[in-house]
Amino acid sequence: MIKYVPRMTSVVLEEIPDKLTLAVDISNCQGTCIGCHSPFLREDIGDELTPAIIDSLIADNFGVNCFLFLGEGRDHAALMRLAAHLKASHPDMALALYSGREEVEDDIWDTFDYVKVGPYIPKYGPLNRRSTNQRLYLHRQDITYRFWHRGIDSNR
Ligand code: SF4
Repeated sequence: MIKYVPRMTSVVLEEIPDKLTLAVDISNCQGTCIGCHSPFLREDIGDELTPAIIDSLIADNFGVNCFLFLGEGRDHAALMRLAAHLKASHPDMALALYSGREEVEDDIWDTFDYVKVGPYIPKYGPLNRRSTNQRLYLHRQDITYRFWHRGIDSNR
């Protein structure tokens, strides 16, 4: 099961370049980032994220063209089922995943258009710092440089 925190769901412009993104915070984070911005997301909190809820969130946020999982939880099979639903039911929607892990499985690379990897390490900073250890890929191409003129403050 994948759980999300409904009150944190928002439409964002900064997280994925050139996209109007519906960002959904996923709980049960398996990360251990030092300086974690939201330690409560490591806990088993929130509501189950289902295909019906995904459909409803997209319908309620007309115009979004990217669906972003902010975190991946601990149930890989369930995450991939939700991703498969998105691809089948919303084929024009870009699919994005912010993972705090150093590396992710091949099925994630093959399924998600955008994949962010790397834990947040304070001394290296978030994506908008040139010193960052984190990377955002679009179809396996590193596009982290797209953040380096921006003033976002993300440590996901
Ligand atoms: S991935 Fe995000 S929520 Fe998870 S430990 Fe790291 S900073 Fe915290």
